[in-house]
Amino acid sequence: MNTYNKDLIFIKLGGAAITHKSKPGKVNFSVLKRVSKEISGFYDDYKLLIGHGGGSFPHAVASKYDLSNGIETCGVRGFTEIQASAHALNNIVLEEFLKKKIPAISIQPSACTIMDNGKVKKMYYEPIETLLNNGIVPIIYGDIIPDRSKGCSIASTEMLFSYLARKLKPSKIIIGTDVDGVFTEDPKKGNGELIELIDKNNIQNILKNIKPTISNDVTGGMYHKVKELYKLSKLDIEIDIINLLKKDYLKETVKEKRLGTRILR
Ligand code: ADP
Repeated sequence: MNTYNKDLIFIKLGGAAITHKSKPGKVNFSVLKRVSKEISGFYDDYKLLIGHGGGSFPHAVASKYDLSNGIETCGVRGFTEIQASAHALNNIVLEEFLKKKIPAISIQPSACTIMDNGKVKKMYYEPIETLLNNGIVPIIYGDIIPDRSKGCSIASTEMLFSYLARKLKPSKIIIGTDVDGVFTEDPKKGNGELIELIDKNNIQNILKNIKPTISNDVTGGMYHKVKELYKLSKLDIEIDIINLLKKDYLKETVKEKRLGTRILR
């Protein structure tokens, strides 16, 4: 099968959507099953790289450990427990995809990535590229990764997407989460308004306004996403942040509809 000419799209299934974030180790199966079904309807028309967040799986385990100084503070036990938990959710996601007949293969980021001082330095991405060219859907996930100077560091799905986007050059990145997009303030806490477009005219202001004062999310929440993704928009990749809790939003976004926040350069 030759899929060389198909559009490459990266899709993130946010941990806030596919798990119940406040309940450790609890999958939101109704969302995961529906989203897998949506993907089963269009995977064959594109090359798809899927990434998913950890939600209440590794985040709950990570909160028991001090990750500030890598392995020195979280210990080998923290490293291995967090990895096992991220991997456990990945198995569940893979299983749902296979049940929907999506030809998916799981890629463990901690086995093919090296970081240094919290930054992704290298990822051996050739297997991902080869899978994509053979019509297979690779699934990666936010993971705890070997780090040259700190022993281990967390890489969010956005950080891995960021590295891979520079190598694989997708036309589009869709980030699915549990809110309608980026708001002027956290929609769960205030009456912020949805920002439909983020570009060079408003990016600095938005980053200033949404920067959290404290964060208990090891992957940095919405601020981290916008900061990381805006850099990618400069590569002429269209980026949409959408609500995965809403039926057909993913399906429609793949078909070019704008349903959340679009980030353009
Ligand atoms: P995921 O796990 O899906 O990657 P996160 O929990 O990291 O998602 O980020 C999504 C959450 O960010 C939302 O549930 C929302 O409450 C929070 N958030 C904080 N500030 C904002 C903002 N300005 N706009 C949108 N969401 C925000």
